[in-house]
Amino acid sequence: MATSPAQAPPEVDRLLLGIDVGGSYVKVGLVDRRGKLQAKVRAATPSLRTPQGVVAHALEFANAKLREFGLPVEALEAVGMAVPGVLDSQAYRLREVVNLPGWLNEPLLEILSETTRLQAAVVNDANAAAYAEHSLRNLQRESLALITLGTGIGCGLVVGGDPYGGDHGCAGELGHIAVRFGPTALPCTCGSRGHLESYAGAAGVIARLREELARVDDASIPQSQIPPSLLEPDVSPKEIAEAAEAGCEPCRRVIEETAEFVGQAVGMLGQVIDPTVVLLGGAMTFGGPDRAMGDFFLSQVRQTVRETTLVQVGGNLIIEFATLGNDAGLLGAAMVAEQVRQS
Ligand SMILES: [Zn+2]
Repeated sequence: MATSPAQAPPEVDRLLLGIDVGGSYVKVGLVDRRGKLQAKVRAATPSLRTPQGVVAHALEFANAKLREFGLPVEALEAVGMAVPGVLDSQAYRLREVVNLPGWLNEPLLEILSETTRLQAAVVNDANAAAYAEHSLRNLQRESLALITLGTGIGCGLVVGGDPYGGDHGCAGELGHIAVRFGPTALPCTCGSRGHLESYAGAAGVIARLREELARVDDASIPQSQIPPSLLEPDVSPKEIAEAAEAGCEPCRRVIEETAEFVGQAVGMLGQVIDPTVVLLGGAMTFGGPDRAMGDFFLSQVRQTVRETTLVQVGGNLIIEFATLGNDAGLLGAAMVAEQVRQS
């Protein structure tokens, strides 16, 4: 924690406290009313032990920063906490969560508001990140989905301007939507079959890459031209993108197929929610906006959505890359708290 006094910028007179709880780290930040992060700290989750420990740590950080900024305690207006797992959006208790012992079924909203004595909000971390992107785009009452593609596939929803968790905390579980059916559909980690995550999650993408590379015969591409790193079990989406850009046709096909799977799921989501914006983030975007293959991936997702939806849905849907990155959950937690304060 910094010890030297640092005056806050003059326009910062009111602050929101955001807490983003993950299995490894808890991030705490102070956000101003324009949505700008003014201070941030990260602590190992196990060291804070319980929800009470996390909230006490966050409050301590906030009070120290307020003193540094020369602001009274009243300048802190609201607190929001983003949590992973299945959050019961009526009782604000986690009904399912991994890597957070001691958090299951705890009354999180009560703990947060009683410890801080502030207007408080508890929100699922994917929905918090989606809400931050939604606020950044100033979408008001419009809807947005933020899909995170990586080892798993996550999705946060903002419907009609509000974060939407569903009646059982499972709304937007896009990784477990079926994109293939029947006995040949791949098994999913959840126990079901044919789910998007089996095809477009990291393990699915790597398995398809292996198949494609095994099919290569020397007439099309000499095996010697295939970089050995592509056969490693932890080959990264960036390496696949680089190889595709260098002319590896199997890599390009894998990226195209991944985009088709994702596009099918985005199309289904589009037909159900009819949102204004769908954003794609995470590592499995093949470099995202920074790479030619990222742009190719995005264009293929858009094309599949147009091909599989009504023109009123697919023709109007804006599909882009997410922009906020790692601080999205933290910012979103604070912004949801501000929304609760204003309502
Ligand atoms: Zn599944």
